Amino acid sequence: MKKRHLLAPGPTPVLPEALLAMARPILYHRGPEYEALLGRVREGLQFLFQTKNEVLVFTSSGTGGMEGAVVNTLSPGDRALVIRSGKFGERWGEICEAYGLQPSYIDVDWGRAVEPDTVAAALAADPSIKAVFATHTESSTGVLHDIETIARIVKKTPAILVVDAIMSLGVANLPMDAWGVDVVVGGSQKALMIPPGLAFCGVSDKAWVMVQRSRLPKFYFNFTAERKSLEKNQNSFTPAVSLVVALEQSLAAIKAEGLTALFARHDRLARATRAGVRALGLELFTERPTPALTAITAPPGIEAGAIVKRLRAAHGITISGGQAQLKGKIFRLAHLGYADESDVVVCLAALERTLIDLGYSLKLGEGVRAVQEVLAQAG
Ligand SMILES: *Cc1c(COP(=O)(O)O)cnc(C)c1O
Repeated sequence: MKKRHLLAPGPTPVLPEALLAMARPILYHRGPEYEALLGRVREGLQFLFQTKNEVLVFTSSGTGGMEGAVVNTLSPGDRALVIRSGKFGERWGEICEAYGLQPSYIDVDWGRAVEPDTVAAALAADPSIKAVFATHTESSTGVLHDIETIARIVKKTPAILVVDAIMSLGVANLPMDAWGVDVVVGGSQKALMIPPGLAFCGVSDKAWVMVQRSRLPKFYFNFTAERKSLEKNQNSFTPAVSLVVALEQSLAAIKAEGLTALFARHDRLARATRAGVRALGLELFTERPTPALTAITAPPGIEAGAIVKRLRAAHGITISGGQAQLKGKIFRLAHLGYADESDVVVCLAALERTLIDLGYSLKLGEGVRAVQEVLAQAG
């Protein structure tokens, strides 16, 4: 018998209360029970996004929310600026290009965070830019970008700031109203502790003005129509009812924990993981790590994929390797959502044994000890 541990950067383990709620008989999505539920979910999402505005809910993976953000804010010929520092930043560019836009790019070395000054310079060089597309946690490299500073820069221009926060919503602070972030995109299968299948878009007043003028084609991901439906506690089309039911549970759990405690928990798990990894003599892939996951450079002579494979086969632990140009070079341990101390202890313990099996020299317990030392500290 082997216990299985899902420690990949999404999907993540599902909250038990959400699993139970999903097992109940399905609700009719045009009935009073569902409408009351959606009312509670709308409030919970505003709490999580830290916004007074409506947070739109779509039945799709997170990328649907990203596509929605592009097609609802821009028009043919509009100038856009895309920050590319990994797989998900690239995705913003791919979506823009799929709709015929020709964005300018800020290309950042994978593993590094964008310098906010670069964004300021790009906006100053082209005042016609209508939207800046950024990523909060770039999951492919484990970097947390400085959205607060970037928002301060973009706020002073006519452009809107659109942020892919799919990996960091509920992990790291991103108060959209206070920082002035215009569109925040989230997804259900990361820190929200429910299965894949829902995308969320928080939209600022500044962005709504652009939504009203936007002329790119859209049908399913129509922000204006969806907001109108939500205001009546309805969805425009049949929603993933079971996931919305699960979402209510996860939002209640998040509210009960409180945002400050929620962010502190993730920060603590991330610090413990990084300490453990360093104690084993391994190198972190980035100097600006996200609290959502830890990206680690595979030691010389060991292919990252071999670590991933052996962790799963020998210890029942699922983590992720590198994507695209980082394939074989890094591996990624996630510690977000329904994750606590025991998860990072188990993960580091199994990582030690795995590395030994693959010929890396270390003393058993060195990593776990460093993890424990961080966890033993107050706070
Ligand atoms: C998971 C993730 C996505 C969404 O991917 P989907 O497969 O469409 O849900 C987008 N951006 C980031 C940063 C992610 O981590």
